[in-house]
Amino acid sequence: MLACSEPTPPSRAGTYGFEAGGDVFHWPAERLPVRFYAQPTGNLRFLVQHAVDSWAGVFLYGEFRGTLVADSTGADVIVQADSVPDVPPDPGAPVYACNEVTAVPPIDTNNRFTEPFHIRVAVLPGFTPAQVAACLRRTTIHEAGHALGLFQHSPDPVDIMWGPSGAAPITADGPSDQDRRTVELLYHTPPTVLPPP
Ligand SMILES: [Zn+2]
Repeated sequence: MLACSEPTPPSRAGTYGFEAGGDVFHWPAERLPVRFYAQPTGNLRFLVQHAVDSWAGVFLYGEFRGTLVADSTGADVIVQADSVPDVPPDPGAPVYACNEVTAVPPIDTNNRFTEPFHIRVAVLPGFTPAQVAACLRRTTIHEAGHALGLFQHSPDPVDIMWGPSGAAPITADGPSDQDRRTVELLYHTPPTVLPPP
């Protein structure tokens, strides 16, 4: 507990890094809500909405908000998948049943991203649809975190932005306290890169 007479200065304690090659990016207030397009495959739109809500929910002052749009034209983040099961997620131990990749766009000479972020979702063979659904639910939040500007991985498996090495699943169900502190710090750090036009 902190008494009000003991204000604490902002600290980087309890956070992980978010810059890439010295570049910092977050969506500026005037670009909110960030427009997410999810291919209408299985329940992918639901998964992306859940990811957007998970991140928006950690901010106290609406520093990030996102919305799903029906058309990829003009979208800021485009999420695509070949196939996605539409079943409830398996409640058991997380398994590496899916794989997702976020393509951070190139940067032009004006330090502006040239195109939307692209997230590609892949289902791995040999797992039940429910195991895949559970993997996709966690991993879509993780990839959306990259699209918010969290360009580094956490070293801690309790964080949704943990970066497993090799064939290991994301194990957190949503943003942890450290994820929250990190993304809040990011959204209060001046960006060096501008959003796509
Ligand atoms: Zn990642």
